[in-house]
Amino acid sequence: MLQQVNGHSSGSDAQGRESLREDLQEFLGGEVPLHQLDDLTKVNPVTLETVLRCLQARYTADTFYTNAGCTLVALNPFKHVPQLYSPELMREYHAAPQPQKLKPHIFTVGEQTYRNVRSLIEPVNQSIVVSGESGAGKTWTSRCLMKFYAVVAASPTSWESHKIAERIEQRILNSNPVMEAFGNACTLRNNNSSRFGKFIQLQLNRDHQMTGAAIQTYLLEKTRVACQDSTERNFHIFYQICKGASSDERLQWHLPEGAAFSWLPNPERTLEEDCFEVTREAMLHLGVDAPTQNNIFQALAGLLHLGNIRFAGAGDEAQPCRPMDDGAVRTSALLLRLPEDPLLETLRIRTIRAGRQQQVFRKPCSQAECDTRRDCLAKLVYARLFDWLVSVINSSVCADPASWTTFIGLLDVYGFESFPHNSLEQLCINYANEKLQQHFVAHYLRAQQEEYAVEGLEWSFVNYQDNQTCLDLIEGSPISICSLINEECRLNRPSSAAQLQTRIESALAGSPCLGHNKLSPEPSFVVLHYAGSVRYHTAGLVEKNKDPVPPELTRLLQQSQDPLLKVLFPADPEEKSQAEPSGQSRAPVLTVVSKFKASLEQLLQVLQATTPHYIRCIKPNSQGRAQALHREEVLNQLEACGLVETIHISAAGFPIRVSHRTFVERYASLRRLHPRAPPDPHSPSPDEGHSEGSPHAEQATLRALLQDILHTLPALEAAAPAAP
Ligand code: ADP
Ligand code: MG
Repeated sequence: MLQQVNGHSSGSDAQGRESLREDLQEFLGGEVPLHQLDDLTKVNPVTLETVLRCLQARYTADTFYTNAGCTLVALNPFKHVPQLYSPELMREYHAAPQPQKLKPHIFTVGEQTYRNVRSLIEPVNQSIVVSGESGAGKTWTSRCLMKFYAVVAASPTSWESHKIAERIEQRILNSNPVMEAFGNACTLRNNNSSRFGKFIQLQLNRDHQMTGAAIQTYLLEKTRVACQDSTERNFHIFYQICKGASSDERLQWHLPEGAAFSWLPNPERTLEEDCFEVTREAMLHLGVDAPTQNNIFQALAGLLHLGNIRFAGAGDEAQPCRPMDDGAVRTSALLLRLPEDPLLETLRIRTIRAGRQQQVFRKPCSQAECDTRRDCLAKLVYARLFDWLVSVINSSVCADPASWTTFIGLLDVYGFESFPHNSLEQLCINYANEKLQQHFVAHYLRAQQEEYAVEGLEWSFVNYQDNQTCLDLIEGSPISICSLINEECRLNRPSSAAQLQTRIESALAGSPCLGHNKLSPEPSFVVLHYAGSVRYHTAGLVEKNKDPVPPELTRLLQQSQDPLLKVLFPADPEEKSQAEPSGQSRAPVLTVVSKFKASLEQLLQVLQATTPHYIRCIKPNSQGRAQALHREEVLNQLEACGLVETIHISAAGFPIRVSHRTFVERYASLRRLHPRAPPDPHSPSPDEGHSEGSPHAEQATLRALLQDILHTLPALEAAAPAAP
């Protein structure tokens, strides 16, 4: 082998030396300016501060992507950098012999996954987990990756249906504006914030072309339909219809110019996302024809009018609540094609069945109860509409199971959240992040160990503390936070927020991840997550977990004459629900937490059967300004995503990884000048000592050896022309 390599032209020797010089200089640091450090594992020492300095230097140099061992860190540029996402650049990464040698980029990850599924030896399904806080760039990244695959894995055939012939990639890309119109909203932290989690599976055929996709969504924030912070907005689609409807449509949907809706705050803010035409066009391409679209938009207008219903009155037998404005009830009933009187009755009268004979009692609702029922009706319609839309998109883009063999999954999920007030939503989100973190650590350590075993290297790993203890606290059996909250729902007993706090704190007192609850004015408990501690408030937690839907509301919607609502709320076969006592179903209570847990477990099963890749998106500042990196904000995010730990895990292995074959090919020529490295007086010989030395001793030895080789390079260069 040595002879063969030496027998090559001196050009390849020179190239080898150049690569060697680059590798060594990068590893030894010092001479490489911070902004040129492509991998954070090479920052020395690895601390939050040094990592931040490196990212800051790169951001200032308009370099937005940096490797962190097995993870890619993506800084949001907050400005359009078209050359960074051009099809030409996509092709460059796709064609590169070693894309990982190019500058770090999401296309490196994209190309790596694409090569892995094309592997002739053992193609394995791939997944890319994109995480980060709201506004960090997850959805942008996922969208760009979808475009990347649409370019490099384009199928030569086009699909024909709904009288539109088009390529499947285009149709898959069309799912984005539709999902975003119905599932995204302008929040304080992001003008186009996704209010749901998404896993999209891009399906590839035997020829590695994209033939379809399947979308799974998680935890749509349906409360937003009926309740928005005064500084935020409802889902984009409501603004789109109000701004983009034609004059005929305005008449039909009862949306005169300038009409005020209480569920439509901040309509004066015009966003790029308010583009109705783009949504309509994309829906058409996905097979939602114009009449169906019309039904959808009419129902949404009906919800806006529903939101304008206000109640007055004592809410007792003598003075039941009445709507302050009959017009809103009438228009809402008209647009939702519901009978007006039953709509009003359902909103303001509760029916209770009790006793052996299941007698029906009618109880007037208080004003607050009327409001809750109105909001519940809207949430019910919107959530079903969203799910239905996802299923329509899936049936439009999903390939026949026989036609695809491998997939690449893209997961765009909410990152770790910690607000001044945290409730069930944050508990679910942070629980999901704990699960993903555990999956990440387990996978990466395992992958490293396997790689070393294949190379015949001995290596004792530092014992990395994973987050199982925290997961036990949240989801473990027999007792955990989830089980206790679920039990409160099942027992259906009145319990106060303070009682729930006491139950959690006494039943789980032994868990090291249950934080010390310093005096807090509100009942709460503290969880020490891997990314930081979070205080969860217990008020309303059990009710949110039940997410109760009075059966009268479902029965009312089943009476709608609207073809869309008929599909969303099909009549019960045999009127089963009529026989059930109102307000409590005999079926086991399917709480929000238990549904979320089940879908999370399903997701993890899928991820575990894939080779995962990780992209951590970082938001440089909360104002969305270009060229501004705010230290504190970025430090918080680096801490929250456990980046320093990630780098330590990566650095627990060998800092430079070259396959044995490449190493021999590249460096064999050194043996002539440097047959054996000089022994280091303080540590075992690098040839012998790997298994014994601590990672630090190993690195010091390696560093000394490499330093020595670097010094001999000039001599090697002088000798090179004479090489045979
Ligand atoms: P997230 O999904 O993490 O909440 P988004 O992907 O919606 O965040 O990004 C928020 C905003 O940041 C986008 O609307 C866009 O304006 C900007 N942005 C994100 N990534 C990029 C990028 N790579 N280049 C330019 N702008 C970006
Ligand atoms: Mg998003």
